Amino acid sequence: MSDTLDLLAIAAHRDDVELTCGGTLAKTARAGRRVGIIDLTQGEMGTRGSAELRAAEADRAAKVLGVAVRRNAGLPDAHLKNDDASRERLVTMIRETQPRVVILPFPVGRHPDHRIAAELGRDACYLAGLAKYAPREGLEPHRPHKVLYALAYREDPVKPSFVVDISDCFDTKMAAIRCYASQFDGAKAAGEIFPTGQDLYELIRIQSAHYGSLIRRPYGEPFFTYETLAVEDVLALGGPSL
Ligand SMILES: [Zn+2]
Repeated sequence: MSDTLDLLAIAAHRDDVELTCGGTLAKTARAGRRVGIIDLTQGEMGTRGSAELRAAEADRAAKVLGVAVRRNAGLPDAHLKNDDASRERLVTMIRETQPRVVILPFPVGRHPDHRIAAELGRDACYLAGLAKYAPREGLEPHRPHKVLYALAYREDPVKPSFVVDISDCFDTKMAAIRCYASQFDGAKAAGEIFPTGQDLYELIRIQSAHYGSLIRRPYGEPFFTYETLAVEDVLALGGPSL
């Protein structure tokens, strides 16, 4: 199937994935893997711009990141629910794209849609593997191998399970974020990023540099997993201790 993916990022709003894991998506795509994005809503409740403008911006950002597939689930912005209808819609999209790894928002968030997206996304990943749940002609059950939570900008007392080195893709991440000029030009805050008075783009750079510093690299993106990560080769572990 042409929409089959290696890595899928699911988030509530267009621009969420660029802010939290755009570097990781670009890096994975650059490595030759098939990467996709599902935006759950169309951003119709956004204070700035319109849903139509954000759709055009999201398409441009997807091209910049090099993702193969970007879809919209059409669920209601600011009214996201983890209900049966929403789960079934997302289960169908997961079965259509068959991702091996899925990135979700962190389960705690400033915007209620971010919290709901994390729960809805995880439940849909599980349910997509149940053969008798919402079966569709021509679609096989599929359960992703791994679920990662994007931890960027969160202040919860949670240490990242790992940080992806995005130093080589940082410019690409910023170029994708800058596609959302209607949202971000002149802005001081966005999504889970609290205002400090500094320009938003500079704030994103500073935060990315902080996460990079945790693995002794210029720029990084942090992730959390509930399960303990398995390691094949201790000699290949990154992030020097001393
Ligand atoms: Zn958002």
